[in-house]
Amino acid sequence: MEGKSRSIPEVLESAIKLSGNIPLFGTRSASRLVYGLLKLPKEQALQTLRAIEEAVLNLRRCAKCGLLTTDETCYICKDPLRSKFQMCVVEESQDAFSIEKLGKYNGLYHILNGRIAPLEGISPSDLSIDKLFERIENLNVKELILATNPNIEGEATANYIAKLAKRQFKHLKITRISHGLQFGSMIENSDPLSLEGSFANRKTVEDT
Ligand SMILES: [Zn+2]
Repeated sequence: MEGKSRSIPEVLESAIKLSGNIPLFGTRSASRLVYGLLKLPKEQALQTLRAIEEAVLNLRRCAKCGLLTTDETCYICKDPLRSKFQMCVVEESQDAFSIEKLGKYNGLYHILNGRIAPLEGISPSDLSIDKLFERIENLNVKELILATNPNIEGEATANYIAKLAKRQFKHLKITRISHGLQFGSMIENSDPLSLEGSFANRKTVEDT
C-alpha cells in the first residue's frame, strides 16, 4: 500500500469528525458515540440514528417560550391551568424538562438557549433575553425564577438578567434557585431530590 498510510477508514474518520461538531461534545465523545454505535447490532444502530433523525426533523422551538416541541406552541404555553405569573428562566429545554419531572412547578418557562460565556464568544445578545423581557411585560409576570445552572457561567447569566430586570420592572420579584445543588453541577444531571430542594428554597435576589 504505497503512499497510503491512512489507518482509519475515511467513512469512520468523517463520522467522528462531524459528530465532533455537536455542542459540548468534542473529539473524545464523538469517538465514543461512533465506536459505540458500531458495536451495536446493525439494525439497532440504524434504529438509534433514525430516532435522532426523527427528532431533528420534527422538533422546533416553541414560538413563545423556546422549549423544544413538535408543535408551533409547547404543551406548557398551551395549558390554560398554568400560572402566567411565574416565569422560570433556564438555559436549555432539558433543564425545563428536569424541573417538570418534579411535578411541583405550575408556572411558565423561558428558554435562554444557552448562557453568557465570553470565552466561547457567547454574549447576552446571543440569548433570548429581549424576548424574555417582552414576555415579562406582556404577561405581567410577578415572579422571575432564575434557574440557570449553578456554575460560574450560569451565575453570571443569572446576575446579568437580574440586574437588567430590576431596572426595568420595579415590582417584579426575582428569585434564584439555591445552592442545594452542588456548585459546578448541571440541572439536567442533578438528582431530583436536590433539584427539588434547590427550587423550593429559592432565594430572593437582593439589590446589588
Ligand atoms: Zn412554550
